[in-house]
Amino acid sequence: MSARRTDIAIIGGGLAGSLAAAMLGRAGSDCVLIDPHETYPDDFRCEKLDGPQQALLQKTGLADAVARAATPDRTCWVARLGRVVEKRPGDQLGIFYGPLVNTIRGEIPRHVPFIRAKAQTITTGVERQTVALAGGGEIDARLVVLANGLSVSLRDSLALTREVVSPCHSVTVGFTIKPHGQRAFDFPALTYYAERPSDRAALVTFFPIGAGMRANLFVYREFDDPLLRRFRKQPQSALFELMPNLRPIIGDFAVEDKVQIRPIDLYVTHGHRQAGVVLVGDAFATSCPAAGTGVRKVLTDVERLCKEHIPRWLATPGMGEAKIAAFYDDPVKQACDAFSADKAFRLKATSLDATLGGTLRRRTKFVLQAARGLLRRPRTADESQPAARLPVEASA
Ligand SMILES: Cc1cc2nc3c(=O)[nH]c(=O)nc-3n(C[C@H](O)[C@H](O)[C@H](O)COP(=O)(O)OP(=O)(O)OC[C@H]3O[C@@H](n4cnc5c(N)ncnc54)[C@H](O)[C@@H]3O)c2cc1C
Repeated sequence: MSARRTDIAIIGGGLAGSLAAAMLGRAGSDCVLIDPHETYPDDFRCEKLDGPQQALLQKTGLADAVARAATPDRTCWVARLGRVVEKRPGDQLGIFYGPLVNTIRGEIPRHVPFIRAKAQTITTGVERQTVALAGGGEIDARLVVLANGLSVSLRDSLALTREVVSPCHSVTVGFTIKPHGQRAFDFPALTYYAERPSDRAALVTFFPIGAGMRANLFVYREFDDPLLRRFRKQPQSALFELMPNLRPIIGDFAVEDKVQIRPIDLYVTHGHRQAGVVLVGDAFATSCPAAGTGVRKVLTDVERLCKEHIPRWLATPGMGEAKIAAFYDDPVKQACDAFSADKAFRLKATSLDATLGGTLRRRTKFVLQAARGLLRRPRTADESQPAARLPVEASA
């Protein structure tokens, strides 16, 4: 059986691969998308897009479709040390990861074939690349875009290695809550920062998705930590044990679904500078969910690759290593990767800093945020429906 020929074979139809297929397809490129799942399954990953991520999404041409499928948060309360210090205009869109990826897949033009299969091996060269599919069949392409996320299965055939720079850097806990004794929570969305460094936590965020209120908690603990075990069985008492001063702000709640708990290793890939293949998204490097930079990295990678680099690469013969290197050396990509890594380590260090300097830094943030909250108050009073149960307090 002869191989199917195309210009670009995209391996992996998660956020990065689906976005690349939509952008390249819309630009009229000859590409195929390969993924074992016809519909992206439910998966615990990014569940909201902030303002800067939406601005980046605008550049890909897919922001409107995502906005239609997502839930805006209108206003977001910010609380520290048991006090609501700021009510800022909402800029977050809540959307589960499966619907996010499937919405983007829905924007891929029909002329881009979806090949439902797992890529088994990749053989690369300066001119053409061969992707062998599990179950038989081959794709013959000028370029392979590797967007296979956390999967390690294709690493060996490309001699790629992964260096884990921070094992179990953070753990993310996700669950959906409903209030006890009232129809809706008082807050439209809420970010609550950890109270003490000894809590080994960064923050918890609450934001609407559809009619539900989703919670994402980010902690710096081992995966088998007793607190995380308690979270599976008694999430409310585990959360209030960790953050006792949160209770007067959100009140008692019930959890509507299964508590999801995911540890994240921070890794970087080595050996990626090679002819014929380019890595994007988590396939290249992971980010810390607490820092919330994973989607920014995916969007930056894909936007730079599809708008700037691939059109130039296809315009001349060959797909040598020097061409591919231009993507990894792209200053916008490099700045985004550096920002993501720096934020991951800085947030962890700040959250766990028990020195006097650390306490002072957190107090300063509290006061600055409270001051900003006071300045905002007249403008956002009407937007912060439903009415606040607690007064906004501005002093420590
Ligand atoms: C719990 C958690 C919470 C997070 N929260 C946030 C957040 O709040 N903000 C934020 O910005 N980021 C967050 N992130 C990070 C963000 O979700 C990821 O960076 C992003 O989803 C990566 O997308 P991707 O396309 O690279 O990988 P994926 O979405 O994992 O896609 C990989 C795809 O490759 C396919 N695949 C794998 N192997 C093969 C193969 N051999 N052949 C064909 N296809 C293959 C898979 O089926 C899948 O479709 C979070 C991550 C986690 C785990």
